Amino acid sequence: MILNLKSRQVRLLRKESDKTRPIEACALLFGKLNEKEAAVTRVVLMPNILQSTIRFEIDPQAFYKAFTQAHARDMEFVGFFHSHPAPATPSAVDLHYMKLWGDAVWLIHSQTDGGLAAFRMKAGRVQELTIKVE
Ligand SMILES: [Zn+2]
Repeated sequence: MILNLKSRQVRLLRKESDKTRPIEACALLFGKLNEKEAAVTRVVLMPNILQSTIRFEIDPQAFYKAFTQAHARDMEFVGFFHSHPAPATPSAVDLHYMKLWGDAVWLIHSQTDGGLAAFRMKAGRVQELTIKVE
């Protein structure tokens, strides 16, 4: 599966991740999503209300607002972005939530080596996506 991102979106996410380091940064990704491809057209940065270096949690009101706005613009929920003060691979907590969130894409940025990687849970197995930046 391919995840399409714009270079300005990647810059925005890296900047946010650098700013919050070592606290995990988080954002919601909206756009279009199907079985083969996801395209992000809107990135909404979200505060991590846990202010944690190992977990993130999005404020429920901000979460609801972002979903309502995206729906009004005819956008689908693509997935979550968050950063790790560690390599860009899903943690045990991430895997737990990936199971709950079905088709959602999980884009992770490493605050230690700058790596950016995307994953999705498919039939109980973690699949790494190919990221295309234009
Ligand atoms: Zn994580």
